[in-house]
Formats: sequence, structure tokens, C-alpha cells
Amino acid sequence: MRIVLLGAPGSGKGTQAKLLSKQLNIPHISTGDLLRAAVAAGSELGMQVKEIMAAGHLVSDDIMLGLIEERLGHDDASGGFLLDGYPRNLIQAKALDELLDRIGMPVEEAVDIAVDNEQIITRIAKRAELEGRSDDTEEVVRRRLQIYEEQTAPVSAHYNQHGILTQILGEGSIEEVYARINGALKQTNDPAS
Ligand code: AMP
Repeated sequence: MRIVLLGAPGSGKGTQAKLLSKQLNIPHISTGDLLRAAVAAGSELGMQVKEIMAAGHLVSDDIMLGLIEERLGHDDASGGFLLDGYPRNLIQAKALDELLDRIGMPVEEAVDIAVDNEQIITRIAKRAELEGRSDDTEEVVRRRLQIYEEQTAPVSAHYNQHGILTQILGEGSIEEVYARINGALKQTNDPAS
């Protein structure tokens, strides 16, 4: 399966991605995780993106395309993948379509996890306590949510136009949301069942 997972920061997208990748046996490719690892390693890329991430802004489309192209070239991605955090705007969505068409592996499913903003703020406040991320402060979270609404929400519309979007309600327990996603994926793969 080649899946793109969409959802605002704090929608539970990362948690669901981990569970799904294990069950479907496909790599979970989180651009946020890749960037955080680069920052922690102090690499050239890490130094380039550290301040941008801490402020809640988006890293440039060129840097992101290079990063995702490199990652998708690894052997483990040849049998499918689950993208988490990419694409984040329409330019990235189109660049990804082009890249995947070129290698004959187009996205099959885009799953959008919807959660209302108030719940998101509560969830992120919890995560801030647990993980201590520098971009989980209230001011930065508000900026990330605004950027999400302006730039990432249109990505859902893009996949909807291609007829591969599934919208999932992200409220409830981890297990409940997981069951909803699984049910939707099963239905698209086996509509007769
Ligand atoms: P995430 O863990 O997906 O919420 O990403 C954390 C931060 O990494 C974002 O707020 C951005 O600064 C950066 N980032 C992750 N993915 C992308 C992307 N596809 N395009 C631009 N910036 C990104």
C-alpha cells in the first residue's frame, strides 16, 4: 500500500501512522521525524531547518522534495510506504505526484484525520509535557494550525479530486480512530466485502 496520512498537528496522525505501518508492514516516513533527527545530529540540513521548525514555519519545498526523494529511494520503500507530514502544501503534493508517477508508484490512498482545534490544543499541551518539543508552545502551535488550514487543507481537496481521499473522524480513543482507518482502508481495497 502507498498511503499519505493527512491531519493537523496534534490530530494523532503520528500515533496512527506508527500502528498502521506495523500492521501493513510498510515503512512509516515522517518528515517531521526526519527533520528532528537531522537537528539532533547537528547535520548541515539540521542547522538549516532548526530555527524554521522552532518557529512553526514550513521548511522550503526544495529541501523537502530532496529529503523525501532520498528517503523513498531506500529499499524498504519499494513495497509501499506511509507518508506522515508530507505533502504539506499543493506545491509539494504536485511534486510528489510527479516523482511517484516517474517511478511508477502513485499514491493509492490519502487518509485525512479530522479533529477540532480545541481538542488539538489540549492534546498538544499534553505532548509538550511528555516530549518537550520546542515547537509545542502555544504561540507556535497556533501558527502551525493556521499554516495547516491555509496550506495543508487544500492538499485534501487535491486528493479528493483524484478520487483517493478518505476522511476519518479523529475523535475518541487511539483504538477507536485506528479501527475507523482500518475499516476504511479495507473497504477501498476490497469493496465487495
Ligand atoms: P511534524 O512533526 O510533521 O508536525 O513537523 C514538524 C515541523 O517540521 C513542521 O512544523 C515544519 O517546520 C517541519 N516540516 C515537516 N514536514 C514538512 C513539510 N512537508 N514541509 C515543510 N516543513 C515540514
